[in-house]
Amino acid sequence: TALLDRIERLDPALNSFITVTGDQALQDAEAADEARARGQAGILAGVPLAYKDIFCTEGVRTSCGSRMLDNFIAPYNATVIDKLRQAGTVSLGKTNMDEFAMGSSNENSHYGPVKNPWDHSLVPGGSSGGSAAAVAAGLVPAALGTDTGGSIRQPAAFCGITGLKPTYGRVSRYGMVAYASSLDQGGPLARTAEDCAWLLNVMAGHDARDSTSVSRSVPDYTSELDKPLDGLRIGLPREYFGEGLDEGVASAIRDAIRVYESLGASVIDVSLPHTELAIPTYYVIAPAEASSNLSRYDGVRFGHRCENPETLEDLYKRSRAEGFGEEVKRRILIGTHTLSEGFFDAYYRKAQQVRRLIRQDFLDAFQQVDVLMGPAAPTPAFPLGETADPVQMYLQDIYTIAINLAGIPGISVPAGFVGHRPVGLQILAPHFAEAHLLNVAHAFQ
Ligand code: GLN
Repeated sequence: TALLDRIERLDPALNSFITVTGDQALQDAEAADEARARGQAGILAGVPLAYKDIFCTEGVRTSCGSRMLDNFIAPYNATVIDKLRQAGTVSLGKTNMDEFAMGSSNENSHYGPVKNPWDHSLVPGGSSGGSAAAVAAGLVPAALGTDTGGSIRQPAAFCGITGLKPTYGRVSRYGMVAYASSLDQGGPLARTAEDCAWLLNVMAGHDARDSTSVSRSVPDYTSELDKPLDGLRIGLPREYFGEGLDEGVASAIRDAIRVYESLGASVIDVSLPHTELAIPTYYVIAPAEASSNLSRYDGVRFGHRCENPETLEDLYKRSRAEGFGEEVKRRILIGTHTLSEGFFDAYYRKAQQVRRLIRQDFLDAFQQVDVLMGPAAPTPAFPLGETADPVQMYLQDIYTIAINLAGIPGISVPAGFVGHRPVGLQILAPHFAEAHLLNVAHAFQ
């Protein structure tokens, strides 16, 4: 209840929650107490959590930050929610986000923008900005987010916390409202890599209801946390330190890398030559998949329905026109265009080919080094309302989206400040090397 009071006091200014589930929290807490009394409580029993409002929750609205789903109550829980509940965690509610996870600043939410707890005139990053802000403000010790093109790592960086995007397929997507299915991955945002490891222990694993989840055993992600870093080879991708990178961010990242050198790591310059193609590739593939995923919101089966439709076509048109915001419409238009006959080969097929090259860049780099490091975002948090140009906003994702295209895991850890604005150090590892990634992140904390 202390946290519920804190949310009530602080969140009106931050707007990090869309729905607070006070009764649910009290019930969950009671269940955790009972489990403890029976001697059956695990390490996460009684730990309060919040969920990005993209994870379906039985009996509680799942809005996905959209007017379209403002009235949507899912009949089931996302797999990760069930797993975390079974582990005894306590759900405080659902956090604010960019509509359908499209955005890098949390300004695209139907429920209004989220404020950065470090400075209310700044954005918290997006699209998991509500989760990042809630953790940074101490409203909840950890929260879940999703990362399609940086939406866990970039808000974690902007809010000065730790955010982990696992390998694609490591965590079930069942019950996560789909944005771009071949890129989406759920993960934890918390204060430390250690907290992320405890959460990933529960979240990871095969799920028969998500055919893209990988059936590979789940290691104990906390087991390697304290391994010494002697001999660690860190690659610095040349392309992640080039034009467009804020000087203050660059110097904070260089300082962080010096700390790793003092811990016994060696640093090697590497190249990811197709980096400059990542943004155009992502902004073909993600909208294409989104336009297909979002075709289900037709005003008939669920979600927003317009008043007094005259014909079926009118129902579709007006329900979608009213239910979706500007950015979502822009993505649907781009996606349907690139998928349309006559343009498919030029855009979508080409993007898939380039995606393979981008993935290969990482596989090649990991032949030489154990991890890659660089900034999570080119700038620290920027002022609310400043970036009106969508292309400018897409450039925010320059260091994060290639990772989703390649499917590898990445983490952002707090690495100092530019003035009072936090900087995130991004660390990348080969597919399924989360235990090592968390080890390297933990050493810095
Ligand atoms: N900013 C990117 C986008 O708008 C990434 C979003 C995300 O990872 N969900 O698509």
